[in-house]
Amino acid sequence: MRNDRYSRQLLFSGIGGDGQERLSRAHVVIIGCGALGAMQAEMLARAGVGRLRLIDRDFVEESNLHRQVLFEESDAAARLPKAVAGAARLARINSDISVEPLVRDANQTNIEQMIGDVDLVIDGTDNFETRYLINDAAVKLSKPWVYGAAVGAHGVQMTIRPRITPCLRCIFPEMPAPGTSPTCDTAGVILPIIATIAAAQVTEALKLLTGREAQLHGALLQYDLWENRFSRLRIDKMGPQQGCRTCDDGIYDFLGTRAGQMVTSLCGRNAIQISPPEPAPVELPKLAEQLRNIGEVSYNAYLLKFRTGEFELTIFPDSRCLIRGTDDQMVARSLYARYLGT
Ligand SMILES: [Zn+2]
Repeated sequence: MRNDRYSRQLLFSGIGGDGQERLSRAHVVIIGCGALGAMQAEMLARAGVGRLRLIDRDFVEESNLHRQVLFEESDAAARLPKAVAGAARLARINSDISVEPLVRDANQTNIEQMIGDVDLVIDGTDNFETRYLINDAAVKLSKPWVYGAAVGAHGVQMTIRPRITPCLRCIFPEMPAPGTSPTCDTAGVILPIIATIAAAQVTEALKLLTGREAQLHGALLQYDLWENRFSRLRIDKMGPQQGCRTCDDGIYDFLGTRAGQMVTSLCGRNAIQISPPEPAPVELPKLAEQLRNIGEVSYNAYLLKFRTGEFELTIFPDSRCLIRGTDDQMVARSLYARYLGT
């Protein structure tokens, strides 16, 4: 059964029988099961990766369906957690493998546990905060991780092997401030760029899992499918950068007890406050422009109010945010990531 199932993959000389055997023994965690994560999960499940852990804090919504290929209308109608709906779909695709869904918010209290026992970490997240968190934990625990991001028709991909290649902070030392980068929820996204970046990530994953490290592309890949621009910035000769706080100094800022967003429930008010660890200036007029097409926006010099569906976000110039309409911290962090990008 197995030989037939994977016969065309076994024929591919890059994988072969030995590679397939390695894939069946591999354990991979996908952090974030939105557009990128859903597509990665399906490809890895079909390829026969033996154990997959899916981590996501969100529920399936109708507006996900144009790009999140694991989910169906019935998942959105039932408001199923993405990790749970995704695991059910993967079980129907490949019953030989085991899939562990975790409905969790990856943060500094649990990230090391989430990645500590796997062979490889794949980035399916939608925000910088979680990527810097993954980078710190992956470098600390010497786990390779496969970075990827997409918004609009533009995407980037890079593969990080701790202490061998540059890490995320070697290339981008500081996390962008909240509200400064477009997100799929403010600038939109099309499925082809998701497919392109997920394909690059999964191919890199297959090379790592089958021991074909020499085949890794060794670059920061950038694609813009709409503007027809592609670039490959070679980083394979660079190695870890001197002065990088993470891989040179061994300081894991994002794993510290004071790192990460401070999330406070405002008791009895059905509201949550999110304060970034280091306040960063937000240009309210610019943010208003980004949000104008997707909800009701108003602002003055002191705050910006944004209403979308049942939620109201009040954003202050120091990047603090009050979210009304929920008392669930995971929902609040997810909304912050969607509209402010961290
Ligand atoms: Zn580094």
